[in-house]
Amino acid sequence: MLDEPALRTLGLRFAERDAKDLDAYPVANVDDLKAAALLGAPFAPSLGGHGWTAAEAARAIELLASYSPSTALIWAMPLGFAGIYSMDVEVVPPEARTAWSAQVDEVTARYRAGQLYAACNSERGAGGSVAATQTTARRGADGVFRLTGDKILATSGSYADVFFSTAKVTPQDLPGAGVVEFFLVPTRTPGVEVLTDWDGFGMRSTESHTVRYQDAPAEGILGFPDFLARIQPLEYWFNLFAAIPLGCARGMLRALSTSTPAAPALRVRLNDARMRYEALRAYLLETAAAWRPAGGPEYAARVLRTKTYVGQEATALCATLFALGGGRHYRRNDPLARLLADSFAGTALRPPLPLALDAMLDQFGSSEEYA
Ligand SMILES: Cc1cc2nc3c(=O)[nH]c(=O)nc-3n(C[C@H](O)[C@H](O)[C@H](O)COP(=O)(O)OP(=O)(O)OC[C@H]3O[C@@H](n4cnc5c(N)ncnc54)[C@H](O)[C@@H]3O)c2cc1C
Repeated sequence: MLDEPALRTLGLRFAERDAKDLDAYPVANVDDLKAAALLGAPFAPSLGGHGWTAAEAARAIELLASYSPSTALIWAMPLGFAGIYSMDVEVVPPEARTAWSAQVDEVTARYRAGQLYAACNSERGAGGSVAATQTTARRGADGVFRLTGDKILATSGSYADVFFSTAKVTPQDLPGAGVVEFFLVPTRTPGVEVLTDWDGFGMRSTESHTVRYQDAPAEGILGFPDFLARIQPLEYWFNLFAAIPLGCARGMLRALSTSTPAAPALRVRLNDARMRYEALRAYLLETAAAWRPAGGPEYAARVLRTKTYVGQEATALCATLFALGGGRHYRRNDPLARLLADSFAGTALRPPLPLALDAMLDQFGSSEEYA
């Protein structure tokens, strides 16, 4: 179960630390998340987690983002990964169940040992489209898959222990392979080069670097062939990504509401902002509560709408709140200014806004939800 008071205490501590060192990767924050068994909170308690649902994970990311957006973004990657590995084994095809259970044992043991799993999927020029992935995986005579290709924006960079990375693989090398598969790649291996080229507009301390794979050996694939199409894991992360700009708006609302503003007009505007925030949060949590593996095309479309709407409206709300904050916040490292810059990562996170809008136009009119 999600313990909100405990998470709030952590959030306050993280915000204090962030204020002392604005651009450094928040090692101590991540260590605190590990110590509280929060990186893998969706795992069952017997496996070292807290048995969180997808909606609890989204609530937690939103709450933490209101204090420390960078830490929330870093956390979203392993949290979503743990959410996927917590799915009911009934969803796994019978022939893959033994291997799946062995993977769950391995991954949960590594979380308990403090290892950090991170996402290394995006590629320059792919526009956030998984199908446009150029990275390839080839199976060697030794049975090991090796990845070659360039990735961008891999949050946690060299602080990660294992990347989960999309790559194309032929059906000859992997019978039943989908458009892409997720490969698990240990980060400190010959063939993996993590650059230090992150200089973000917001999310400054996330170390979201370029990664180059040159015959980088993978431990194997996540799950079983065609996992992305059969299980639809990405929607779990999309809900978490939407929670981040929403959390930024919550943090700004909190900062601006600590004392009642004297001007009635300002109180009206803040009240209006609060209603917008609450409506966005309700939309996101309703979508996240409906998450299930292999959720189907209707659910995928709903998540796409939710992530798009909550992302764009939360950043717009942050812009409104920043304007209401006044000139004293107009400094690069003011907490309100940082929340504003951090919030815009939400529209860039997968699926980025232009790609999402394109996809929704294609889907327009296909819904029977109003029946
Ligand atoms: C702070 C931050 C942290 C991130 N962390 C991670 C991470 O940990 N792991 C990870 O894998 N990714 C991460 N990302 C990447 C993110 O999830 C997006 O997938 C990535 O930004 C790609 O989108 P883009 O718009 O930048 O793509 P670009 O490839 O730069 O494309 C730019 C634009 O071109 C257009 N375009 C190009 N190709 C297409 C196409 N095929 N279809 C439609 N439109 C197209 C779109 O308008 C697109 O937005 C992070 C991003 C940010 C901002």
